Amino acid sequence: MIGGGVIGLSIAYSLAKRGIRATVLDRQGMGRGASWAGAGMLPPFLCRNPISPMVELRSWSAVLYREWSAELRERTGQDNGYRVCGSIEIALEPAEVQEIKTAAGRWRVEGIRYERLAAQDLQNLEPALNPSCLHAFLVPDRAQIRNPWHLRALEAANRSLGVEIIPDLLVHRLNVQGRRVISIETENGRLSCGQVVVAAGAWSGGLLKELRIELPTPPLKGQMVLFQHDHAVVRRIIERGKMYLVPRMDGRILMGATEEDAGFDTRTTQEGQQSLIGQALTICPALAQAKVEQSWAGLRPGSLDTRPYLGLISEYDNLWVATGHKRAGLQLAPASAEVIANLIIGHDPGMDLTAFSPGRLSGSDRTVPESKHG
Ligand SMILES: Cc1cc2nc3c(=O)[nH]c(=O)nc-3n(C[C@H](O)[C@H](O)[C@H](O)COP(=O)(O)OP(=O)(O)OC[C@H]3O[C@@H](n4cnc5c(N)ncnc54)[C@H](O)[C@@H]3O)c2cc1C
Repeated sequence: MIGGGVIGLSIAYSLAKRGIRATVLDRQGMGRGASWAGAGMLPPFLCRNPISPMVELRSWSAVLYREWSAELRERTGQDNGYRVCGSIEIALEPAEVQEIKTAAGRWRVEGIRYERLAAQDLQNLEPALNPSCLHAFLVPDRAQIRNPWHLRALEAANRSLGVEIIPDLLVHRLNVQGRRVISIETENGRLSCGQVVVAAGAWSGGLLKELRIELPTPPLKGQMVLFQHDHAVVRRIIERGKMYLVPRMDGRILMGATEEDAGFDTRTTQEGQQSLIGQALTICPALAQAKVEQSWAGLRPGSLDTRPYLGLISEYDNLWVATGHKRAGLQLAPASAEVIANLIIGHDPGMDLTAFSPGRLSGSDRTVPESKHG
């Protein structure tokens, strides 16, 4: 497994439960990439819904999160912070009202429970929110994990199942012969391999390009601000368009996130931080009394059509890819892991993966012509 983010660790865990002990390599500590930087918001599905490939992957993952959270606690004694906290989607400007009504239409089709909140109900549920809110919906089944805790629990569960975890080891490239990857070239030498899964987040596209496989994973930078208040100012996830506040149980509140095309630069910027703090105070003026504890940025692994790539690279018999989850890698990780683990052991993946096929972008021929390379 190349990459020990939530995707790589989840696949290793699914494989280990099937009796296959993977080796997970990461050039830094496990889970220190996008997976650590994320907010940990999970979708509100109560059961698996096959209405579309994305909805199925998302809803299956939501169901698995409940199971995995209990299972991880049992195996490792560690809490991943999973809780069904609910969310409230708000509109503060007239233009945003139509947006959340459209979102509500989508929830209805997907079978997600929601209810319109009158101004007084909103005030009763979340008194610290901006009182000039024009429209609001409560989504009671939205959940969250504390992603750094989840990653720690996944790593511990993997170790307990005999998975080899190798941090601080940079993979330079894959060595191939015919239709097989025969070894992995690392900064400390060559490792032999059976099956190889590239789950290297935003860096996956670069590793595959070395093999003349064109599977872009453009990094989409997201900055975050963590507030600390002496009490829980809000209790539910609050969403305004793509911006959100995520309350933790200890008075901490995450405000996220920017979306920036900034290459592989993970530095925070004053402009990004100011805009997040401004948004936070608009949504929840009481945060003026909170202190900013920390801020950071991470790189979401993109794809060309916003769907992840999940499956075998058709030019090879033992090269798999699981990446490109963009804004949703934490929420989609368990089902992504299950399908890849099923495929690797030669079973049916558990759902139709055509929409996520790594070959979908340009038919069967994704190799970069030699002249364009080097
Ligand atoms: C600010 C922000 C907020 C987010 N909020 C949410 C959210 O609320 N819910 C949600 O579902 N998703 C969220 N996301 C998206 C989610 O975090 C990502 O989609 C997910 O973490 C991707 O996981 P990954 O394992 O593919 O990538 P990563 O976590 O980046 O892991 C890839 C790993 O590969 C390693 N690696 C790369 N190249 C090499 C190499 N050559 N050799 C060895 N190792 C290598 C890296 O060190 C890294 O650890 C958010 C993202 C950000 C940035």
